[in-house]
Amino acid sequence: MAQASEFREPILHVDMDAFFVEVERLDDANLIDKPVVVGGTGRRSVVAAASYEARVFGVRSAMPMVKARRLCPELVIVAPDHSKYSEVSSNVFSIFRSYTPMVEGLSVDEAFLDVSGLRMHYSSPADVAVAVRRSIRDDLGLPASVGVATTKFMAKLASESAKPDGIRQVEAGRELDFLHPLPVRALWGVGQSTHAALEQLGIETIGDLAAVPEPALRSRVGDSVGVHLHELADGRDPRPVQPDSETKSISAEQTYESDLVGVERLEIEILRHSDKVAGRARRAGLWGKTTHLKVRFADFKTITRSETLPAATNVARDIYRSSLRLLERASVGSRPVRLLGVGLSSLTSDAQPRQLAVDRPAKWDELSDAVAGVQDRFGSDSLGPARLADVRAPRPRPFDGNDR
Ligand SMILES: [Mg+2]
Repeated sequence: MAQASEFREPILHVDMDAFFVEVERLDDANLIDKPVVVGGTGRRSVVAAASYEARVFGVRSAMPMVKARRLCPELVIVAPDHSKYSEVSSNVFSIFRSYTPMVEGLSVDEAFLDVSGLRMHYSSPADVAVAVRRSIRDDLGLPASVGVATTKFMAKLASESAKPDGIRQVEAGRELDFLHPLPVRALWGVGQSTHAALEQLGIETIGDLAAVPEPALRSRVGDSVGVHLHELADGRDPRPVQPDSETKSISAEQTYESDLVGVERLEIEILRHSDKVAGRARRAGLWGKTTHLKVRFADFKTITRSETLPAATNVARDIYRSSLRLLERASVGSRPVRLLGVGLSSLTSDAQPRQLAVDRPAKWDELSDAVAGVQDRFGSDSLGPARLADVRAPRPRPFDGNDR
């Protein structure tokens, strides 16, 4: 266990990269490496999300689709599927909450995390950021960028500069070095009219703004905006992370590069997922009473099965055994499977109802905890149940290169 450190930059801002596009790529490898947007094709449609390949052409989210097509004639347009995005979003947030309950969501794909409480477990907040990014990549196959800083607004600016698929830490005491060269538009609360007023004052960067006496600023943009902007330009942001409601479910799923065929193969993957779900539940201090199995076949038909356990658990073997029962109920047979997921819900943080499976060796809990600890540090492929040792982890759908 690491020494308690100062943890001087405890606020993370985690932001998924081109979220809707990356979720679509999980289902369709043909979209990888191409300029892709998610959005409608009607005359008044706008771009909901743009891949980094599309951004090279100047395509941006919120841009009219007509304009996006003009900028990039080979643009691939995918119709949005918001129920799919919100499902993946809840998985992303359950990963956040497996690290800390101090999670404040800003939208479906970004959140602030206050990781002060993890100082006994990680040597620095940046280490937490590495672990969170790895969990998101390992469990969901998606890229995310993380800003690490002393305040929320600094962390948000940092994640922006980390994109795509990176980490950026703004060291305590060095905030103004990072902040002042940025364009003033980067500040929260600078809309178009404020921006125009600031431009008239000759203010281009945040540093320019910080140099303007506060009374002069207030007379141009109004008292409350003026005070707020001046605080931000000085790197001051007292707002704490305000956690939202709790995790409702924890799941691990994967879309496979080549379809899984046969019960034996599925069982191994279920074991792998059960192990991840258990690790995350334990890290979050949660136990779950309902297990879920999700199977998407090669023809995209998707089935889910769930079962209520006699008692809540966060032990991999309980989840695994229950999931095997669900697999049997699903009668998958030898149909090719492209996506497999295992989940845990009806969560409780109360250890009281934890009733161990009768035949479980007493050591299992301890062993599972040790495994989860090693995985947190070295990645989820570093250690797992013995049965997994012989089986190389199947490659998830490729990601390299699709973030630019
Ligand atoms: Mg995002």
